[in-house]
Amino acid sequence: MATIRFQALSELLSRQPKSVTLPSNKATDYYADLVFNVESMRKYLSKDAFKAVKAANQKGGSIDRKMSDGIALGMKTWAIEKGATHYTHWFQPLTDGTAEKHDGFIDYGDGGNMIENFSGKLLAQQEPDASSFPSGGIRQTFEARGYTAWDVSSPAFIIGTTLCIPTVFISYTGEALDYKTPLLKALAAVDEAAVDVCQYFDKNVTKVHANLGWEQEYFLIDEALYQARPDLALTGRTLMGHSSSKDQQLDDHYFGSIPERVTKFMMDLEVECHKLGVPVKTRHNEVAPSQFELAPIFEEANLANDHNQLVMDVMKRVARNHKFRVLFHEKPYAGVNGSGKHNNWSLSTDTGVVLMAPGKNPKGNMQFLTFVVNTLMAVYKNQDLLRASILTASNSHRLGANEAPPSIVSVFLGDEVSKMLKKIVEEVGEKKMTPDEKTALKLGIGRIPEIILDNTDRNRTSPFAFTGNRFEFRAVGSSANNAAAMTALNAAMAVQLKDFKAAVDRLINEGIKKDEAIFQVLKKLIIESKPIRFNGDGYSGAWVIEAKKRGLTNITSVPESLSKYLEAPAKRSLIESGVMTEKELEARVEVEMEKFTMKIQIEARVLGDLAINHIVPTAVAYQTKLIQNVQGLRDIFSAEEFENLAGARKELIREISGHISSIKAKVKGMVEARKECNVIEDGHKMAFAYDQKVRPYLEDIRYHIDKLELVVDNEMWPLPKYRELLFNN
Ligand code: ADP
Ligand code: MG
Repeated sequence: MATIRFQALSELLSRQPKSVTLPSNKATDYYADLVFNVESMRKYLSKDAFKAVKAANQKGGSIDRKMSDGIALGMKTWAIEKGATHYTHWFQPLTDGTAEKHDGFIDYGDGGNMIENFSGKLLAQQEPDASSFPSGGIRQTFEARGYTAWDVSSPAFIIGTTLCIPTVFISYTGEALDYKTPLLKALAAVDEAAVDVCQYFDKNVTKVHANLGWEQEYFLIDEALYQARPDLALTGRTLMGHSSSKDQQLDDHYFGSIPERVTKFMMDLEVECHKLGVPVKTRHNEVAPSQFELAPIFEEANLANDHNQLVMDVMKRVARNHKFRVLFHEKPYAGVNGSGKHNNWSLSTDTGVVLMAPGKNPKGNMQFLTFVVNTLMAVYKNQDLLRASILTASNSHRLGANEAPPSIVSVFLGDEVSKMLKKIVEEVGEKKMTPDEKTALKLGIGRIPEIILDNTDRNRTSPFAFTGNRFEFRAVGSSANNAAAMTALNAAMAVQLKDFKAAVDRLINEGIKKDEAIFQVLKKLIIESKPIRFNGDGYSGAWVIEAKKRGLTNITSVPESLSKYLEAPAKRSLIESGVMTEKELEARVEVEMEKFTMKIQIEARVLGDLAINHIVPTAVAYQTKLIQNVQGLRDIFSAEEFENLAGARKELIREISGHISSIKAKVKGMVEARKECNVIEDGHKMAFAYDQKVRPYLEDIRYHIDKLELVVDNEMWPLPKYRELLFNN
C-alpha cells in the first residue's frame, strides 16, 4: 500500500486549475453587491431610519428601539431579495477568527402562522451562549451570558444565504469579550484627542479617523499534501522537515509570474471580496515559494479590520474550492520567510487632510510634524505595549528572525524628515523667537513636500516605518486580528496627543504665542524620543548592541512580553484613554497567556505523537533493512571483504540508533515537563513554564527527526517533504 505521502503526490499530478469566469470584467458592475451600504439603505430604509443610521455612524451613539425596527425591516427585505434565509450576529471573540450563530428568519406570526421575522430587537442585540469563548475569568465570577450588539459603523453583508451583522461581544456585566470593543474605544479616544490638537491648526476639523491599510501575506498548499501533514493540519505549521535543497535563495518567486492554479484562486477570491465591498487591489507572489500577498486600498480602521477578518474567512473557503489550503500561520515552514500583516496606519480629518502626510503650506507642515513627532513619542513610551500587542506563539517564530521586524521596537523616519526634526531642535532656542526666526523655521519646514516626493528611500528592516503619508507597523502577524495592534497604537497615540495638548496649553497660558509653544514642545519631544529613531539596518547584530545602549527593550519571550501589558506605560495608554478597564486588561492578558500555553501544549502533543508513531517506526524499519543487508553481506563475502564493505553501513545503523534513542528520550522528557507545567495553577506562571521547559524540546526533537529524514530511504519516509510542500503549484 502506498503511503499517504505518495497518494498525495499522485493526486497532485492530476490537479487541474479550476476554471473561473468573471461576472463582468468591470468590478464596479458587482462591487458591494452583497453589502447593505449607503446606497442600499437609501433604497430600503425610510428617510428617518436612513438619517438615524447616518447620524449614529457619524457621531457614534445608539439608535432607539423604534427606529431599529424600521431598519431591521428594510435590511430583511434587502437580504431576502438577495437570497438570504438566515441572519447572524458576526463577532470577533478572543480566539482566532470570527464567530457566528445562524438563525432563520422563519418564525411564528401573531396568528400562529409562519412568517419571515427580523425585528429591531433581533438586529440590535443577541445573547449567544458565551460560555465556550475565552473571557479570562470575567464570566466565571458572574454569569456565562454574553451579549452581541450591532456595530452601526460597519455595514451588514451577506455570505451565502446568511445576513451577517457586525457586532461587539460583551459580558453580562458589560466587559469586552472581543477584539472589536476596545478597538472602537481606542478609535474614539484618538478621534477626540487628535481633533483637539488639529484645532491649533484648523478650526474646521470636527472628526479625525484612523486609517488602516493591511497587507495580508499567506501560503497556499495543495489540500492532499496538507492532509498528509498532521502537524500542519493541527498546528498550522510544520513541526519537522529538513529544508529543501532549493528554497528561496534565488529570489525567483518574489514578484515572479503567478502560477495558473493560484491565479484562478486569486481571481475567484477577488470577485468574492469585491462583492463584499472589500476594495482589494494588489496581489503578488511573496519572497518564499508558495507565498503570496493580498492588499486592499486602506479604509477607516474598524471597517478595514472587519474586512480583514472577513477576507481571511473568504480566503479559506475559496481556497478549498480550488483544492488548496491557505496557511495564515506566521511561520509554516522553517528556513524560509514567514508571513506578516503590515498595518499601514495614518490619521485623517473630516476636512480631507491626511495628518501623516506633509501639508501644502508651512502651517500644514507644522501640523504634519506635530503628528509625526507625537507618533514617535507614543511609540517610544509604548514599545512594550506595541510588542505585547503583536507577539504571539506563532508570531514569535518570525520576529527577530532576520526577515521580519526585530524584537526591538524602533521607528524609521528617513533622512529628510529626520533633518527637519534636527532643524527644529537647532533653531528653537530657549529665548523667545523673533518673527524672522519663526518665518525662517516655517519656510524650512515648508520645503518638506517636494523633498519627500523626491525621496523614495524605504527601509524594510524597520518594525515601524514612515512611508511618505503613513506609518507602516510591520510587526503584526499574518494570523493576527489587527485590532490588538490598532487598539494599542491608537490608544497610545490618544494619550500622547492629550499630553502634548496639555503641555502646549500650559505654555500658552504662560503667555507664549501658540506657534512658538508648539515648536517648544515639539523640540522637547524630539529630543526625548530620540532613542526610538533608527534609520539603519534593523536586522544587524550591531543594532542589538546599539539598542541596548539606548535603553530600548528587546524581548522575545511571549509570556514576558505579555506581562508588559500590566506595567505602568501600557496601563496608562489603555486605561487612562478609557479603552479598557483594569479588569478587562487583566482578563485579556489571562486569555493571551492561556492561548500561548495551549498552542505550545498542542504542538508538543502533536510532535510527540508524530515522532513516536510515524518517525521512529519508519527509522526502525529502515534500520532493520540495513541490518539485514549487513547480515547478507556477511553470508556471501569473506570476513576480510565484509569488513571493508560493511563499515559505512554499520556507521549508518549506529547513527540511526543514536537519533532514535534521542527522540525517544526527549519525547519522554517533554511529556514529563508538560506534566510538571500542567499542575501549575497560576495561568501566567504556567505560560512562563511552558515557554522555558516545554518549548525548547520542540526544536530539540525536530533536530533529530530532520537528521533522520536525510538518511532514511525516501520511499519509506511517511510525511511529505519540504521540497514537495513548497513547490506544489
Ligand atoms: P507597499 O509598497 O508597502 O506594499 P502599497 O502601495 O501596496 O505599499 O500600500 C500598502 C497599503 O497602504 C495599501 O493598503 C494602501 O492603501 C495603504 N495606504 C496608502 N496610503 C495610506 C495612508 N495614508 N494611510 C493608511 N494606509 C495607506
Ligand atoms: Mg507595505
